[in-house]
Amino acid sequence: MCNPLLHIKCKAYCLLAKNKVINKLMNNANKSHSLMNILKPYLGVSSYLILLVLLSIGLTAMSAHSHNIDLNHIGDELEVVGFKDDRLLQSESKSTIKNSLNQSYTINFAANIPEDKKAKLYTWANHARKALRLVYGKLPVEDFVTIIKASKGGKGAVPWGEVNRYSPPEVTLVVNLDSSLEALKADWTIYHEFSHLLIPYDAGDARWFSEGLASYYQNITQARVGMFDEQTLWQKLYDGFERGNKQQNYAHQRLDYLSDHIGENRNYMRIYWSGALYWLKADIALRALAQKNAIPYSLDLALAKLQACCFDRYLSATEIAHKLDQLTESKIFTSLLSEFSASYAIPDYLTPLRSLGVEVINGQISINDQAIYNTQRRAIFIGLSKLSSKNAR
Ligand SMILES: [Zn+2]
Repeated sequence: MCNPLLHIKCKAYCLLAKNKVINKLMNNANKSHSLMNILKPYLGVSSYLILLVLLSIGLTAMSAHSHNIDLNHIGDELEVVGFKDDRLLQSESKSTIKNSLNQSYTINFAANIPEDKKAKLYTWANHARKALRLVYGKLPVEDFVTIIKASKGGKGAVPWGEVNRYSPPEVTLVVNLDSSLEALKADWTIYHEFSHLLIPYDAGDARWFSEGLASYYQNITQARVGMFDEQTLWQKLYDGFERGNKQQNYAHQRLDYLSDHIGENRNYMRIYWSGALYWLKADIALRALAQKNAIPYSLDLALAKLQACCFDRYLSATEIAHKLDQLTESKIFTSLLSEFSASYAIPDYLTPLRSLGVEVINGQISINDQAIYNTQRRAIFIGLSKLSSKNAR
């Protein structure tokens, strides 16, 4: 079983939000009166880690979790060895609901969540769990815990989310309680955080790899659960790749280096969307292989196999790529890992999109049903669970 030391090793942050710039960050920092928030924009990862260690030895007055950080779907993932934020745990667990139909479905509500809001939040979290189940028919981690806390002024329905790789993993979501159920469902945050659970990642290297997977699947799971149609799915992915392409102020640095120094360069768009493209290209390559060999390969199925074999340990990005190659009898994941790690800009995304039948004119995508991988594009949208049983193994 899992090493308990490893389970408090990795802490994944996804800093959210809807605005982009530093002065916005400063406004939020001023609002929160949090030393951590004031310092955060200026801190590198190493400095941040030192502060987190300080937090762990008793400086609990700082508010590392009062996040209004505004960076337009930004995130970072930190390796925090031996650190666990006790305040987070103390502030919830007052109310736990377990679904009698699914004993593993646990939501811990923070103490300040009113009783009359819980049914809505429960329905929302259940909806996102259903979306995650649409990757390969079951949850990657059956007993993960969802912690819901009330936002204190963050923007949007879900201003903050994070994944803690404890045993079982915990996904914390900070919500604006006045948001409607529909607004909560339409916010991508929960789909992103849940998608992080699809790989047993230890955050020790290649953050782009993990954030890319979450960025790719947050859109796919939303589409599969009915939040938007196929055209919108591909538009969202294309728009993300475009944002990644526009971030070129560190074009002298390789993606692997850039990703390791995300706290300093803040090139979230290039890092996240290069990662998302990595997984899309792997998905296309697998589905192309399936077409050639009449074997139902796909990224969904590869991840299902990874879950079956290897979720009793944390793996590095390189280890995951090797394992996925082994499971798919290919070299797709390691060869793409080498290519993407050494990239100085987001790799070409128009060619793979075009192969799927996703054409772009003036920034708007249209679907070409005559493309070579037309069927594969549809399958990415529809997902395994709705395909015929012969395709599902
Ligand atoms: Zn993330």
